[in-house]
Amino acid sequence: MGWAIALHGGAGDIPLSLPPERREPREAALRHCLQVGVAALKAQRHPLDVVELVVRELENNPHFNAGRGSVLTTKSTVEMEACIMDGNTKRCGAVSGLSTVVNAISLARLVMEKTPHIYLAFDGAEAFAREQGVETVDAINFITPENIERLKQAKEANRVQIDYTQPIQMDPTKEKPIVDGDSQIGTVGCVAVDGEGNLATATSTGGLVNKMVGRIGDTPVVGAGTYANSYCAVSATGKGEAIIRSTVARDVAALMEYKGLSLKEAASYVVEECTPKGTCGLVAVSATGEVTMPFNTTGMFRACATEDGYSEIGIWPPSAEN
Ligand code: ASP
Repeated sequence: MGWAIALHGGAGDIPLSLPPERREPREAALRHCLQVGVAALKAQRHPLDVVELVVRELENNPHFNAGRGSVLTTKSTVEMEACIMDGNTKRCGAVSGLSTVVNAISLARLVMEKTPHIYLAFDGAEAFAREQGVETVDAINFITPENIERLKQAKEANRVQIDYTQPIQMDPTKEKPIVDGDSQIGTVGCVAVDGEGNLATATSTGGLVNKMVGRIGDTPVVGAGTYANSYCAVSATGKGEAIIRSTVARDVAALMEYKGLSLKEAASYVVEECTPKGTCGLVAVSATGEVTMPFNTTGMFRACATEDGYSEIGIWPPSAEN
């Protein structure tokens, strides 16, 4: 038993040749966010506070596809989404379709704590944000030069261009993306457990570059991209449509609960056997302080630490990093 924390900044087809100017800021952010989370756990903060705190840091960093760095829809707008969940109580909150809220994850927590509901989206979620007085900015502030350029390239090629990954093809007749052709990257997430076995998870994203307006991915869908119970806390990343079909996060918990698998066994079974190759990665911790970060994509921006002194920050599989 002991505390443990893991976080991710997205899984996808990350080339080993990723230039240092794109790799280093993300590695530095992972290191910083890990330190923030570890310090909070050592200060006895509840895991729910810890995952919210860490995801807020990641949302505030423009190098990830969440909060400030959120990618753009086909209409050059931002539609952010997020979900947070407490393991022992299974209380959870989720939001989608946010265009002005600085920290989507904190609004998700307010949905959990201040409403009788679990999931608010689009105009209703924005109105709730105003009512709660959370920090908002004009939507134009989320539209960064980097994301305008990404969208421009995608539109010129008539396809959905996903950060460093291969492009998603567009259906030329219907002008909508064929999502099956690709994966995406940059979503952020954090899972944490304290010395008493309290578990929590949080995930936040801008979704896909050039996604259809109104598209909802796996991130805010409880049991798909985000899930925690009294056994484990899971945050997934990758191709949202594949993750929803495979109920990735819930399946990890279910394999532990119903089949007695360890966290590592359950997570690697779901990632290796239950989701198509190249579509998914996750970070997870168990009530007893185990941590695991499997992925079936080329890489996943990730970091973890445990009370017994283990710590890891990586992008590609350990064999490729050496
Ligand atoms: N899973 C997210 C989505 O499909 C994207 C990601 O993980 O990068 O919206």
